[in-house]
Amino acid sequence: MQPGNPQARSTKTEARISFVYFDLDDTLLDHRKAEKATLADCQEHFAGHLSGHSLAHIQETYDRLNATLWRDYGAGIITKSDLKRLRFERLLTALEVNTIAPDVLGEHYLNRYAHHWSWIEGAEAAFHAIADRFPVGILTNGFKKIQHAKLDRFPSLRERAASIVISEEVGVMKPNSALFAHAEEKARVPPEEILYIGDSLHSDVEGGRNAGWQVAWFRGESDLRSDVHVFEDWGDLIAHLL
Ligand SMILES: [Mg+2]
Repeated sequence: MQPGNPQARSTKTEARISFVYFDLDDTLLDHRKAEKATLADCQEHFAGHLSGHSLAHIQETYDRLNATLWRDYGAGIITKSDLKRLRFERLLTALEVNTIAPDVLGEHYLNRYAHHWSWIEGAEAAFHAIADRFPVGILTNGFKKIQHAKLDRFPSLRERAASIVISEEVGVMKPNSALFAHAEEKARVPPEEILYIGDSLHSDVEGGRNAGWQVAWFRGESDLRSDVHVFEDWGDLIAHLL
């Protein structure tokens, strides 16, 4: 690092970093753990109906169906209310359970989900360390009501972020380049000077690289992409970046 120029820091691409955007779910906050705990709550609450399947099977099925539905929602094929209804309707169909109404399960799920939010291990300290050095922002796919509730629960995210971009508020989802362009405008720096830190190959790595941003891929696979910095835990990224 050059003295007197604290924002100039190199990655593999040797480019300057002037702004760092973070993905929220499964990068800073442990969505997957929260989802698993929420499905466990649902299984317990509806024990007479869901006890015939293992929690791992329920979660794997839910993840698979949900991922497809989010892609369809992102592509404008289905609406938000379709997504909210179909993920539980299809889950119950796949589990061959017809004794619970999908909307009753969906409501219980959403009520319990907020009880299980937490940081990914090491992410809170890393977020602050990075925010001490660079202007930072949040760029997340999701429903505005839920994502704002998460930012309210962990207020330091909102306090330190110079820019918060939630897909539903903009009307397009990652990896759509329009969302990255919107985030870029809010950051007020050239694309090549933005580092995006995220966990999803499709949304974050492909979306970020197509937008001309630098990308750090959390829990990624280095043999899949040679043009991003792959890291396994937050200490590794801090050592690389700061
Ligand atoms: Mg994510």
